[in-house]
Amino acid sequence: MGIDLVPFKVCPMNCVYCEVGETTNLTCKTDEYVPFDEIICELDDYITHNPKLDYITFSGSGEPMLHSRLGEIVSYIKKSYPNYKLALITNSVLLTNPKLLHDIIDVDLIMPSLDAVSHDIFKAINRPSIEVNPDEIIKALIELRENFRGQIWLEIFLIEGVNDSDKELNLLLEATRKIKPDRVQLNSLDRPGVEAWVKAMNPQRLQEIRDYFAIELGETSTIEVIAKVQRKVEYKNFNPDVVEQVLGLISRRPCTNLDLSKTLGLHVNEVNKVLHSLVSENRIEATHEDRGAFYRIKG
Ligand code: SF4
Repeated sequence: MGIDLVPFKVCPMNCVYCEVGETTNLTCKTDEYVPFDEIICELDDYITHNPKLDYITFSGSGEPMLHSRLGEIVSYIKKSYPNYKLALITNSVLLTNPKLLHDIIDVDLIMPSLDAVSHDIFKAINRPSIEVNPDEIIKALIELRENFRGQIWLEIFLIEGVNDSDKELNLLLEATRKIKPDRVQLNSLDRPGVEAWVKAMNPQRLQEIRDYFAIELGETSTIEVIAKVQRKVEYKNFNPDVVEQVLGLISRRPCTNLDLSKTLGLHVNEVNKVLHSLVSENRIEATHEDRGAFYRIKG
């Protein structure tokens, strides 16, 4: 189960591959973006039914560590529902603030990202807010490993022709050796990103990189490819009415995911899932304009 701690799309980065959409609030400022009481109330309501969950995961439409009361939320869940495990998906930026480490120390699994070591490549992919740089992120990840007893699964998003050169891969490898994550997860584009030029990496190339990392890192970390190389189109998880409503709206005029989310009163993540399946099935296509990706009927 995912908990969205910030509204769409508050983040210290504006990654070219972001599947959620263009960052609208590029910031490193922590705040109570979603009221603490609202989060706890919704959580209590959901957990009353004792759902079977692998993890309760802080993730969503932006960077969860930007929530100023994350530490209190973690403590509340650990105290009230000790049988559930907690995971945090983060772009690693806020880990550079040592004060925030205390907030997440009781989480069971942290999944931080590191896509590049070279400053120019880091900027080209992650397009961070001005105060962020990869050296500080790597240092923070090393410190995290030294102080955090839970699992760390480091995600590296690979883009062909950008961060897959031998030089950059070796820099990433060197950083990974120092960070010592339990796992390294290699990812590539699965859904349309913010920029149309970002394409999914060739699966064979991804596998070669995985094998190279596995040989170089030996037994220190498990290396895996998490990119979905063959995307299955499944509608059975979607309400068929929603698919029809989305198709109906974009057959009248091109819409962004946010347009559809507002008009249909659905969470943007739900709309994204439907859009991405329709794109994979070749029924609709996206064109990228100033306001983001616009979807229209193909043909
Ligand atoms: S850090 Fe995550 S949420 Fe933020 S822009 Fe990058 S991919 Fe999107």
